[in-house]
Amino acid sequence: MPESIGFIGLGIMGHPMATNLIKAGYKLAVYNRTAAKAAGLVAAGARLASSPADATRGADVVMMIVSDSAAVEEVVAGKGGILESLGAGTLVIDSSTISPTVSRKMACLVAGKGASWIDAPVTGSKHGAEKGELTFMIGGDRAAFDRALPILRVLGKKHIYCGQQGLGLSAKLAQNTIQATTLEVFCEGLVLAAKAGVRPEIMMEIIQSSMARAALTDFKAPFIFKGDFTPYFPLKLMLKDLELAAEAGYAQVVPMPVLAAVKEVYMAAKAQGKGDLDYAAVVTVLEEFAGVKVRT
Ligand code: NAP
Repeated sequence: MPESIGFIGLGIMGHPMATNLIKAGYKLAVYNRTAAKAAGLVAAGARLASSPADATRGADVVMMIVSDSAAVEEVVAGKGGILESLGAGTLVIDSSTISPTVSRKMACLVAGKGASWIDAPVTGSKHGAEKGELTFMIGGDRAAFDRALPILRVLGKKHIYCGQQGLGLSAKLAQNTIQATTLEVFCEGLVLAAKAGVRPEIMMEIIQSSMARAALTDFKAPFIFKGDFTPYFPLKLMLKDLELAAEAGYAQVVPMPVLAAVKEVYMAAKAQGKGDLDYAAVVTVLEEFAGVKVRT
C-alpha cells in the first residue's frame, strides 16, 4: 500500500508534481493558500484540505513546495500549520528553495514531534515537473532519504543525496547561482552582437557550434527571441535564490563578485515590475541599457 501524502503548495511546480503522484496511485490531501488552484486535483481524486494542519492529519508523508523561507515557516509553524497535527513517524519532504538555516530550524521543530524532515529542492523547472523528470538534491538522515525515494522516483529522474540536513539546499543555491549568471551573461553577449548588427539567429548558430553552448541557453533562446516571458521560473524567485546564495557566501566567507553584479541586474528587472515574468526577462534590462532588442 503506498503511503498517504499531504501535499502543500500547488504553484507552477507543485501542481504538476501532485498530479503525477495521483496518477501513480498515491492518495493525496492537497492544500493551497489560494484554494481555487486545487480544483483539477480534487477532480482527479485528491481530498481538498482546509489548512496545512488538515492536509497533515493522518498522512504518512507531508510534501511541500512553496515560494520562500517565510512561506515554509508559515506552513510549518504558523496558525493551522503542520505542527498542529503532525504525528510521530511522519516524514516531511520540503522541496521549496529556502535558506538552509531556516530549513534546519524547521527540521528541529518537526523532530520535536517525533517526525523526520529532509530538504529536497529540485531543478528541472515546469517541464521537468510535468514530465516527472526533476533532479532532486537531498539533505537529511539517510534512512529518511531511503523512505522518500519511492515518492521522489515518481517525480524525478535523478535523486542525489548530498549529506546532512541543509546540504541539499546549499547545493541548490550553488546550482542556481551558476544558472542565473550563465543566462545573464548569455544575454549580455546577445545584446553586444545585436548592437553591432549580428542577427540573433546567426549568433545562436555560432554559440551552438562552440564551447559556449549550454542546455539552459538552448532552451531559453527561442523564448527570448520571441519576447515570450511566460513564467517557467518567475524572476522574483530566481532573485530570491541569488539573495540566499549571497547570504550563504557572506556566512561562509566566500567572495562571489559575479553573483553580486548579476543579482543587481535581476533586481533592476524586479524594480521595473517584471518579477512575475520568467527570469529570462533579465534580457530586457540589458536591451534597455544598450538601446537594442534581441528579437528574430
Ligand atoms: P509559484 O508558482 O509562485 O508557487 C508558489 C506556491 O507557494 C503557491 O502554491 C503559493 O500559494 C504558495 N505560497 C506562497 N506563500 C505562501 C504562504 N505564505 N503560505 C502558504 N503558501 C504560500 O512558484 P513555483 O515556481 O512553483 O516555485 C515553488 C518553489 O520551488 C520555490 O521555492 C522555487 O524557488 C522552487 N523552484 C521553482 C522552479 C521553477 O522552475 N518554477 C524550479 C526549481 C525550484 P498561492 O497559490 O496562494 O500563491
